[in-house]
Amino acid sequence: MKREMNTLGKAAIAAVLAACSLGAPPTLASGSTPPPSLHGTPHHVIDAAGAPPALAPGSTPPPYVQKNPYVVLNAAAARGPITVTPLRGGVYLLQGSGGNIGVLPSKDGAFMVDAGIAAASGSGAPRQRLESALQKLGASRIRYLVNTHYHWDHTDGNIWVHEHGASIIATPHTLRDLSKSVRVVEWAHTFTPVPAAARPTVLVAAERTFTVDGNPVRLRPYSTAHTDGDLSAYFTRADVLFTGDTFWNGLYPFIDHEVGGSIDGMIQAANQNIAMVGNSTIVVPGHGPVGRRADLVEYRNMLVAIRNRVADLKGRGLTVEQTIAAKPTQHFDAKWGQGVIGPDLFTTLVYRGV
Ligand SMILES: [Zn+2]
Ligand SMILES: [Zn+2]
Repeated sequence: MKREMNTLGKAAIAAVLAACSLGAPPTLASGSTPPPSLHGTPHHVIDAAGAPPALAPGSTPPPYVQKNPYVVLNAAAARGPITVTPLRGGVYLLQGSGGNIGVLPSKDGAFMVDAGIAAASGSGAPRQRLESALQKLGASRIRYLVNTHYHWDHTDGNIWVHEHGASIIATPHTLRDLSKSVRVVEWAHTFTPVPAAARPTVLVAAERTFTVDGNPVRLRPYSTAHTDGDLSAYFTRADVLFTGDTFWNGLYPFIDHEVGGSIDGMIQAANQNIAMVGNSTIVVPGHGPVGRRADLVEYRNMLVAIRNRVADLKGRGLTVEQTIAAKPTQHFDAKWGQGVIGPDLFTTLVYRGV
């Protein structure tokens, strides 16, 4: 246990050394022209970094949206760089392009969990930075790509990863969500159907294990939680669990009500994650730093406490605005409320589900 912790500590330091950047990150002047899409499809169009996306009439973001997560995450991916962290047993973590990405290089081709954000302006596009990082890991050929759910910060790179040979694995719900238009009001963005080459072709509706070079990876769908298609990936030899966006380490999570997500589903998924891991398991969240079982427990307890406070206030007849004004998250904000999902938005997301 102690040795593993030391390994992880060294890994964090190694991340900086192994950071892959193709040069200075691009900077966009505010008001600059949005970059062209790499793939020419509406799904991949990235709004100008830092600038609010064009809104259809009547679709102004609600007042509780302090920062549009869609814009914030795209801007962060455009800045780069990609950091590479060895976790254990040959499994690596790539960070800096949307959600966390996992890679296990192997002679059969790499096993990859999530594909990040692909498109941005200039030569330092996230796709190129990710490809460079994979090349250095000996993972240019990819056997499998798992989509933990449909959100663009985990699937925008599907096309180029598929070009590297990957079969794309996801739940049937994720395929359905990628194949239709979904308006996410809190992001002021409509996701349109992705091209055929970006769609998952290997569907898992129940637990199933895939193997590359003798390394099993167990995939297990959740019930509806963050979305209706959440999927975990557990590298059994390395004892590394990727939770997708059912776990945000040190950050309030987003909950996608458009496709059935809810706070109660998030709590149920958090309990499933706790049940899946031991004390030495390395737990990779969808967003935030890697954690351990204790971090999952603290996260679950935070979700439960805020859920109960918001349900109590809503049960007394308070509107969502009045509930926000009552600050039901305030004891947790210093630790959890500093990310893209601020206290007011998180309160609203919880309120919708209770
Ligand atoms: Zn995400
Ligand atoms: Zn997500």
